[in-house]
Amino acid sequence: MKALQYRTIGAPPEVVTVPDPEPGPGQVLLKVTAAGVCHSDIAVMSWPAEGFPYELPLTLGHEGVGTVAALGAGVSGVREGDSVAVYGPWGCGTCAKCAEGKENYCLRADELGIRPPGLGAPGAMAEYLLVDDPRHLVPLDGLDPVAAVPLTDAGLTPYHAIKRSLPKLVPGSTAVVIGAGGLGHVAIQLLRALTPARVIALDVGDDKLRLAREVGAHEAVLSDAGAAGAVRRLTGGLGAEAVFDFVGAEPTVRTAGAVAAVEADVTIVGIGGGTLPVGFGHLPFEVSVTAPYWGSRGELIEVLGLARAGAVSVHTETFSLDEAPLAYERLHAGKINGRAVILP
Ligand code: NAD
Ligand code: ZN
Ligand code: ZN
Repeated sequence: MKALQYRTIGAPPEVVTVPDPEPGPGQVLLKVTAAGVCHSDIAVMSWPAEGFPYELPLTLGHEGVGTVAALGAGVSGVREGDSVAVYGPWGCGTCAKCAEGKENYCLRADELGIRPPGLGAPGAMAEYLLVDDPRHLVPLDGLDPVAAVPLTDAGLTPYHAIKRSLPKLVPGSTAVVIGAGGLGHVAIQLLRALTPARVIALDVGDDKLRLAREVGAHEAVLSDAGAAGAVRRLTGGLGAEAVFDFVGAEPTVRTAGAVAAVEADVTIVGIGGGTLPVGFGHLPFEVSVTAPYWGSRGELIEVLGLARAGAVSVHTETFSLDEAPLAYERLHAGKINGRAVILP
């Protein structure tokens, strides 16, 4: 089968032919219908050889949907032909966190060598994908595969982040979304669907600011040195009760801290390497800062439910598997509006 692989440190990913996978006991083979392109893959492909955590070659793609093509021995609960989304942050399934559905925080994944597809295990940018357990599949139940696939990360990750701050997003409150890209433009919609908060989006690109407004941001502000001042002015000097940073670089985490209100939640989702000092006097009183990872199995079911109810719709640009390297180039150049989706 054809697959998009990251093969050489520092080189672009390549379309190659690899053997068709076969499902072992307990596994499910999917014929991939769509795979999403995440900025985290670009981060992975920028890491140096020293300390690189995954084996190469690595088939990319940690957002996947497909139809069940074959079942390994002993698999029940899914049938051939079912259309399903893949829950990506695989865990052991039995530790205390996994028991809560929080496989993203599995206590034993490292020790057992369990890795998400596309982030260690072979990913979804291929004609077929092996899923290690049917519990990692959620039925699409009528959702369009292209529109649904980004929800497995670009939907699930902001959903998890926002859910934590729902008690603070009361009427009259403000939420700030920094970076209105793949994750951020879904975050804006989730905030509008789940909260009465006023949503202020920050980005560096005019297209992104336009998309932010289209998907529901009340205000869209250029993310420059004046952005924090602009958010302060828009909030009567008080700042925002919740700030979600989908860039996580030094300047954006600084902005995130600078626009936080007293008792605000600052959630750094982007992995841009920025750090925000926490300590008395650094931030307004009782601001809490966190850096979450992906979301739980239950939350993925909830996000797909929201999409079925029409509350979120992902803006997508599609590419064939042969065009996948171009999709990464365009994402790297800031030229993707919404999420790029590969159709293998
Ligand atoms: P993306 O490229 O689609 O979106 C990033 C957006 O940020 C773009 O619209 C870009 O114009 C904007 N941006 C860049 N610099 C900016 C700045 N200084 N101020 C404001 N906006 C700026 O990326 P994505 O796929 O949505 O991923 C976003 C981030 O989240 C990445 O760092 C990714 O690695 C990370 N991520 C983290 C998790 C997690 O679990 N923590 C999960 C998925 C992705
Ligand atoms: Zn991702
Ligand atoms: Zn576990």
